[in-house]
Amino acid sequence: MLLLSWLQNLAANLWRSLMNASRTETTFRESVDLMFNRAVALMDLAPGLEDKIRVCNSTYTVRFGVKMRGSIHTFTGYRSVHSEHLEPCKGGIRYSLSVNQDEAEALAALMTYKCALVETPFGGSKGGLRIDPREYDVDEMERITRRFAYELAKRDLIHPSQNVPAPDMGTGEREMAWIADQYARMNTTDINARACVTGKPPHAGGIQGRVEATGRGIQYALQEFFRHPEDVAEARLSGTLDGKRVVVQGLGNVGFHAAKFLSEEDGAIVVAVIEHDGALVCDDGLDIEAVGSWIKRHGGVTGYADAIHVKDGSKVLEKECDILIPAALEGVINLSNADRINAAMIIEAANGPVTAGADEILRSKSVPIIPDMYANAGGVTVSYFEWVKNLSHIRFGRMQRRQEEARHMLIVNELERLSDHLGDDWSLRGDFKEKYLRGAGELELVRSGLDDTMRGAYQAMRETWRSRNDVTDLRTAAYIVAIERVASSYEAKGL
Ligand code: NAD
Repeated sequence: MLLLSWLQNLAANLWRSLMNASRTETTFRESVDLMFNRAVALMDLAPGLEDKIRVCNSTYTVRFGVKMRGSIHTFTGYRSVHSEHLEPCKGGIRYSLSVNQDEAEALAALMTYKCALVETPFGGSKGGLRIDPREYDVDEMERITRRFAYELAKRDLIHPSQNVPAPDMGTGEREMAWIADQYARMNTTDINARACVTGKPPHAGGIQGRVEATGRGIQYALQEFFRHPEDVAEARLSGTLDGKRVVVQGLGNVGFHAAKFLSEEDGAIVVAVIEHDGALVCDDGLDIEAVGSWIKRHGGVTGYADAIHVKDGSKVLEKECDILIPAALEGVINLSNADRINAAMIIEAANGPVTAGADEILRSKSVPIIPDMYANAGGVTVSYFEWVKNLSHIRFGRMQRRQEEARHMLIVNELERLSDHLGDDWSLRGDFKEKYLRGAGELELVRSGLDDTMRGAYQAMRETWRSRNDVTDLRTAAYIVAIERVASSYEAKGL
């Protein structure tokens, strides 16, 4: 009996491997289009609207030179605008040697759907510069970034009401501050100049909580998923995040914050971290703060003492775990390894980490995937708050905070007066007074707005997933919700 079931399993695996080998991997943009097509096949869109939504409106390619180290260095950059159904368009700027037009267009399309899903009033855009930032010093990076920003700004591809970039892989607050300053120098009378880019440092027009936002959003997304026992059961899991074994790929901005919050605040155990130079494995759980600062000092995980180092990091994607969080690159779970993924569920912190072919295999294995379009939307959500803050020229909470505290003080004073009458048995507990009196500052408001957005978007996706028999996965549900919203917007314009 045992031998028979072993043989059946072997035959099934062989058959699956043969089928996978006969498939060809799609490019990133083709993967996004295939996932889009899967969703629109279940929708009833007006004739021609499907095509209008799918196509990328434009991609601008720029080649520019910067004089450095005694010669002219030529760089290639892109800015894709996928959809202008709402403006400005929003989407990050990536610095990486792998940047290309296909990638920029795929990421711009994802931005359109992401913004629609989390109800930020933007079209989708994305850009990138083909560069390895590690090869240049700070001064050189500033000159390259300013020149790239100049090329984009003079074509309104950086503009507070047309196109608003943000950080992505290889860029952060520093680059966004340079871009904002470059735009302001070119538009000296634009009072809204600061709103031309988000992800700036707080002292340069940024907002509290933007750096952590995407990782924080991953935490809120998982918390919401675990509030629905029926959904958790789809992953053959139960209970809460407490004690769940997590594998994270990429301990950069997104991966680091997600891993830190999940382990420090929700009791999850990060059993492996995969980086560009190998993986760290520790079944008792890694100290994310310590690993993060090691990476900052040494540029990778090699040499970190309190864990086993595995040279071929990609193999660790196949480690058995409850939650796999790919938070680095696209296409890392593909036809070559999807069959061997041993996670109960996946949350896509990176954009496009699962190819269309791998998605199909994982669906056939009933591995729930919380899709990128939703999972990593924390960044654009808080970018939206920053953009609103820049346009309103006032920090969130500035008008209300002390008034809120004064009203709370009235209640606390009254409770204390009553407790004086009622005697020692009736008194306010522990730190209640301190916590209750504290009015919400910008960071609290940003986190509250982000949490609300992540909960609301999950519930919209879930409603479609659970209420329709023909929708069997969260990704298709996410696309349907997003496409419906984009379609309504085009229809309202009379298109
Ligand atoms: P980042 O540059 O801060 O971090 C990327 C990390 O991945 C780095 O630590 C890098 O060393 C690591 N890495 C590179 N190659 C790797 C490999 N082969 N194997 C394992 N690790 C590798 O970038 P980020 O901002 O954290 O972005 C990561 C992903 O999240 C990207 O797909 C990005 O588009 C997406 N994203 C980012 C944001 C944001 O706010 N930064 C928002 C939404 C989505």
